[in-house]
Amino acid sequence: DSGIMGGSGSHEFMLESPNGEDQFVLCSHCGYQANTEKAVGVKPRIQELKDPENAPPLEKVHTPNIKTISDLMEFFGINRDQFVKSVAYLADGKLVLAAIRGDFEISETKLRNHLKAIKMEMAPEEVLLDKGYHPGFLSPIGINDPDISVVIDSSLGDGGLMVAGANEKDYHYKNVVPGRDFDNFTTIDIAEVREGDVCAQCGQGKLQIKRGIELGHTFKLGTKYTDENSMNVTYLDDQGKEQRVVMGCYGIGIERLMAAIVEKWHDENGIIWPVSIAPYDIYLIVIGKGEEEKNLGQKMYDTLSNDFEILWDDRSESPGVKFKDADLIGVPFRVVISTKLLKVNAVEVKVRETGEVFKSAPEEVSGKLIELKEKMRTSLR
Ligand SMILES: [Zn+2]
Repeated sequence: DSGIMGGSGSHEFMLESPNGEDQFVLCSHCGYQANTEKAVGVKPRIQELKDPENAPPLEKVHTPNIKTISDLMEFFGINRDQFVKSVAYLADGKLVLAAIRGDFEISETKLRNHLKAIKMEMAPEEVLLDKGYHPGFLSPIGINDPDISVVIDSSLGDGGLMVAGANEKDYHYKNVVPGRDFDNFTTIDIAEVREGDVCAQCGQGKLQIKRGIELGHTFKLGTKYTDENSMNVTYLDDQGKEQRVVMGCYGIGIERLMAAIVEKWHDENGIIWPVSIAPYDIYLIVIGKGEEEKNLGQKMYDTLSNDFEILWDDRSESPGVKFKDADLIGVPFRVVISTKLLKVNAVEVKVRETGEVFKSAPEEVSGKLIELKEKMRTSLR
């Protein structure tokens, strides 16, 4: 959805994730992928008019006390897909009526993009009543008002006999034939794709709706912002001819990217930052309050700082709390100095990703970690 950015097209980069804030559609057969606001599925033809020439004429029916679509289905003995659902919107202040087959939902983004509207909302009841339309009985039938534009979803293209509102309080029409009883309107795709719809791209696969995190978005802006009516930006090409600047723009969501990485890189104890982007390489913990421990801590900090970013946890918390926090924030390596380890001239290293723990002479730690980090970096998936 290029939205108000405009331009001729845009690509979204999504990471599939059950916690994603966005939805996208995936074809199980051809690999077609699109944002749900853009995706197109095949709209199955549910009923067919056997003999269009001799179809019964439009008939107005008194339908008092009918409030919901379920009431209507029961009253007329019809299925959801035999009902013309109509919704009125205010798009940049202009009244728009959108109609769709009852088994589909209107995609407001598709509609808004078609109308090129910046702001779109459901039309308030008083606006409709003011114009003589009745909420609950709306339909495209008989609308002949230059102030209201009507958009029809392609699902209504070739239906059979349907039921629709009569634009009159407590009345509906039956025997509605789209194309016969209303046809002078724009017909486009404004339907939300449904899980299991057949893919319009390959005609074979079933569409699945997945959640994802939007990591980036690229826009082809073309000359929207550089043409004469906008900023009027030109340059001289190698022939000395004036050309218009063509624009594109790229958005990367840094915070979303972090969220997406954590989504993939974590376990029950917390984050596991990949070494390539971890904000710190080493989580340093000194256990024991003696001078010797403290001095070794400072020495390790100074030595390791030549090659690594170090987070020295010098809070007065217990070792257990520090170990838990080290796992939680996911620093790739944990280095522990303690009285017990000092006695055997060793420090302890834990690798967050694998849980591997090993002892090392203090002067060898740096070399070992450089090697390990490089190995982990090159094996990143
Ligand atoms: Zn497909």
